Amino acid sequence: IPLFEARGLTLDYVTERGTVRAVDAVDFTIAEGERLVLLGPSGCGKSSILKAVAGFLEPSAGSLSLRGSAIRGPGPDRLVVFQEFDQLLPWKTVLDNVAFPLVATRRMKKAEAREIAADALRRVGLERALDSYPHTLSGGMKQRAAIARALAASPDVLLMDEPFAALDALTRLQMQRDLMDIARETGLTLLFVTHDIDEAVLIGTRLHLLSAHPGRTITTLDVSAFDMRD
Ligand code: ADP
Ligand code: ADP
Repeated sequence: IPLFEARGLTLDYVTERGTVRAVDAVDFTIAEGERLVLLGPSGCGKSSILKAVAGFLEPSAGSLSLRGSAIRGPGPDRLVVFQEFDQLLPWKTVLDNVAFPLVATRRMKKAEAREIAADALRRVGLERALDSYPHTLSGGMKQRAAIARALAASPDVLLMDEPFAALDALTRLQMQRDLMDIARETGLTLLFVTHDIDEAVLIGTRLHLLSAHPGRTITTLDVSAFDMRD
């Protein structure tokens, strides 16, 4: 069985003006070590799918399962990095932002959590910012810290929702490359949302194309053969 499976996934929002169908009967799977990119125009439901996988949004129909078990609510096995730069706690250092969730949710000793956190921060190139506070960091560095926090918890699937979209072009390129280096090194399983075709081809081993609102599956493309960088 695949690590992760969505079958007939349908997502609705209930609003004052009625029910909005954001995602309509979408199917996809993610194998271990695979990088699946959800690609489609703005409003096609990519973020909604990611939120459902994260456990923030419940399917109206269909199913989502991880290792064969239905997903119920959020969990440290599926962690999200969002587009926004304000994902860190402003009153904690970068090191403690990454270490804190390990202490809180894994009941790890502080010293051990800090060791794992420092290692994750090293992997994203933030070894010199361990004692900095978030407000002193650039947008790119904040995103690196958010990525390190997710990596430190070793999730089964890392979920990323346009994590580089708000960065300047040069920083975005650097971060895309660094993410790919980390992914190859660690065999990261990734579900990545973007509307940028270049980014999708760069990051993904497979692309899952969604139609405009409400999102339905158009097709899934294997793009691992395009990976000429190794
Ligand atoms: P994408 O990430 O592809 O831009 P979204 O998942 O954000 O798409 O949105 C899909 C559709 O669901 C859009 O039509 C959007 O307006 C609608 N939608 C998203 N979030 C909500 C919400 N909280 N309430 C009502 N409608 C929403
Ligand atoms: P994205 O970058 O995914 O396109 P948006 O700017 O469309 O994000 O949406 C940002 C936030 O607003 C999301 O949390 C989404 O759920 C919410 N949202 C989007 N569309 C609507 C809507 N029609 N009604 C209420 N909330 C919405």
